[in-house]
Parts: sequence; structure tokens; C-alpha cells
Amino acid sequence: MGVPLFDTSTPLISLREELRRAIDGVLESERYILGPEVSAFEQEFAEYCGATHAVGVANGTDAITIALRAMGVGAGDEVVVPSFTFYASAEAIPPTGATPVFCDIDPETYCVTAETVRAALTPRTKAVIAVHLFGNVAPIAEIEALGVPVLEDAAQAAGSTAQDGRPGALGTVATFSFFPSKNLGCFGDGGAITTSEAEIAERARTLRFHGSRDKVTYEQVGYNSRLDELQAAILRVQLPHLESMADGRRRAGLHYEHAGLGELVGLPRAVEGSSPAWHLYVVSHPAVERLEAELAAAGIGHKPYYRIPVHRQAAMREWGNVELAGTEQAARTHLAIPMSPVLTSEQAAEVVAAARQAV
Ligand SMILES: *Cc1c(COP(=O)(O)O)cnc(C)c1O
Repeated sequence: MGVPLFDTSTPLISLREELRRAIDGVLESERYILGPEVSAFEQEFAEYCGATHAVGVANGTDAITIALRAMGVGAGDEVVVPSFTFYASAEAIPPTGATPVFCDIDPETYCVTAETVRAALTPRTKAVIAVHLFGNVAPIAEIEALGVPVLEDAAQAAGSTAQDGRPGALGTVATFSFFPSKNLGCFGDGGAITTSEAEIAERARTLRFHGSRDKVTYEQVGYNSRLDELQAAILRVQLPHLESMADGRRRAGLHYEHAGLGELVGLPRAVEGSSPAWHLYVVSHPAVERLEAELAAAGIGHKPYYRIPVHRQAAMREWGNVELAGTEQAARTHLAIPMSPVLTSEQAAEVVAAARQAV
């Protein structure tokens, strides 16, 4: 029958009428930039995360650059970042003037640990970007206990939870992407920064609007990077449903476990105390090409997202001379298989049957 890699449209069907009303409301208001929808979404999203402030920005990449600058990161500083992540986690660093320093991950959780971060710290380290990869939740408190502020890259982790709260409220500052395929997606580009430090929030708010507080005087070189009213209105319709969609993602992971997938391939291991809303369900196998071939033959969506880790990308050459054993292992053996809030146990069984052919 086949199973798609993800399904972003089915969960929206029941929300269509409400989405149309929200879009109409913005058309009628004739306010498109930094109006009441963005303010309301910022308040609602901060509350959802358990943070005091949220600042809407144009996308998840800008969110990282602006958040780093709001933390005071600049020329001469180093920022520790994993190499096994979406490229943008690291790409967002050089525009601040700082240098990326790549650290390793635990290949079973796909996340950084306090140990892998510690190995990359130097006296010049100004911040750590801990990526909650695939919806798993990196151990932020353990990393901040090393004495360095953490930016959570939570682009893939809306809806996940950890022992001490949600992504967005675990570190000094956090960033989100609302790209359509993310756990909470809008109908274009969008992003947000969350923090409970008023000063960081204020700096981020200024930076997203050309480094100005009053639109007349310009204190620093900033960005034109805003979440717009239409996207905020669309996100406000979906936010109340994020929890049930996240539960659907957790349930889909359980379907795979109950169907015996763990006997065939390496399953993603939730970081201790966390309950991931899997954004991507990423398994591993030493002979991953055989798995790819069998899934392809059965019409089952699959994708190796990060076969070439970021530190080995041409654009990162200058900073890429590091040995990262866990990263190389994950890069070689990982494979994303179908995941969505509406993945059924029948679909999971179909995927597991194809995987059984391969191994
Ligand atoms: C998607 C993503 C980003 C970038 O978000 P955009 O909105 O596409 O700019 C950053 N980090 C991670 C881990 C992501 O998955």
C-alpha cells in the first residue's frame, strides 16, 4: 500500500474552516506586520513553553542568529554546536562574528551530552547550541551546569517534554522554526525566540526590527526579520491542538515498538526523563542501504537526512577539522522512516514488515 514519510495535511483537515476564518480576519484587519495576532501568539506560545517572553521572527535560522546576538555573542567568541543536525544550526553562527566549534553527539539519542559539549569548551566559549534533534530533548540542565549558557535549538521539538519542563524554557534562550513540516508549522516561513530573561527578549525584539526601539533611532545593525500577522493567526489556530498532535507522534513511536521494530534496527532512545514528540522517527542499521532498498521497493517513505554531517560541508571547511566518532556513526547508519501525528498501527506494521525483509 505504501506509507508516506510524513503527513502534514491530514491533521489540518478538521481545522480548515477555522483557518479560513483566521486568514479572513487578518485580511479584514488590514494589519500585516507586527500587529495584534503576533502579540497574541507571542503571549500564548511563551505560556505554552513555560517561558516569560516569546519574540516572533521570520524563520528558525534568523531566530538562532538573533538569539545569539541577544545573548551577547559576537566577534572573537566561540559557539559550540553539534555537527549532526540541520545545517542551519551552525550556519546561524558566523553572521554574529563568532566561530562555530563542532561537538559530538550520543548516536543513540542523536543529541549532545554534557560530556560531548565539555570536550569542545575553551576559555572563548560564549554559548552552546543544544539541538533537540528529531524531537528528542537534549539534557540542558546538565550542560548549563558546566557554567556556559545554552541556546536550545528547538526547531524540531515543539510538543516534546522533559523532566523539568518543555523545550523553550529549559535553557537561557530557545529558538523555534514554524516551517510547514515542523511539529508546529505555518503556511510559509516563521520562527520564534523564547526566554525568561527580560533583557535578552528586549534585545531580540530590537534586533528583529533593524536594531531600533522606536523606528526613528537605530542603536545597532539589526535585521528585518518578523513573523507576519497571517502566519501568527494560522499558528494561533493550531497551537491549542499541538498537544494532541504531539501525542499522535508519541503513539506512532509506540506502534513501531509494539510491532517489533526494535528487534530489527536501532530505535531512537529518548533522553532520560524526556517524552519526545518525534518530529522525524530515525532508526539506524549498519547495512542501512539494504533497509533503504527494501523500503523503496515497498513504497515506504524514507530519507537519510544528514549523511554528510555539517562539519564536513564545504561552507564549514574553515571550522571542520575535528574528529567526531558518534557523529560519523550516526551519519553513516541513520534513516528516517514514516512519522506523523496520524500514523496508524497498520502503517507501522507495514513498515516493520518491509524492514524485516531487509535485515
Ligand atoms: C528547520 C530547522 C532550523 C531552521 O529553521 P528555518 O525556519 O528553516 O530557518 C534550524 N535548526 C533545526 C534543527 C531545524 O530543523
